[in-house]
Amino acid sequence: MIPEPIRKFIESFSRLPSIGPRLASRLAFSLTLLDKQELEKIKQAIWGIQSLERCPNCFFFRQKSKKLCDICANPSRNPKIVAIVENETDLLALEQINRLNSHYLILGEITKDGLIQAEQKFRLQGLKNRIKKDLGGQLEELIIALNPNTFADLTSEIISQEFKTLAKTITRLGRGMPTGGEIEFADKETLIQALERRH
Ligand SMILES: [Zn+2]
Repeated sequence: MIPEPIRKFIESFSRLPSIGPRLASRLAFSLTLLDKQELEKIKQAIWGIQSLERCPNCFFFRQKSKKLCDICANPSRNPKIVAIVENETDLLALEQINRLNSHYLILGEITKDGLIQAEQKFRLQGLKNRIKKDLGGQLEELIIALNPNTFADLTSEIISQEFKTLAKTITRLGRGMPTGGEIEFADKETLIQALERRH
């Protein structure tokens, strides 16, 4: 009953986070209302995603043609302040409130046991190497900006221990953020407060 192209669209899009089959079908039908030119723009926007690669320093995305992401390549940022975040959307949330002039490290998803996974160890090791090799052996500040929940608290504790001698100060977001809350969805004011009350 469902036309093949719509069915295929729903199948692909309903795999994406926050988009279930219902939203995917609404999207599919709304796209039928667009003209070719507009569809082409959407197609190119989706296709453009595959030209991204991970920045070797912070693991945010960079364009294939560039060595580093725009944040790491920006000379007016302080490389000796690094904020560790769980994912890209947390990084964007912190960037939006415009209070940090730091670099970042994207850690990747925190697992339910709070223990550090192999890929996360690799990313943290990369930061440690850069601190020793390029950043004079010590950061001015390492901000552990993980979501306030029991698992991430354990992860934060492990990271603090590991970086004890590699950063002058190690801070975490203040308790402006409710426990169990998520950085990505926090309103600006809450996030600013959490950042200003970091300790
Ligand atoms: Zn980067």
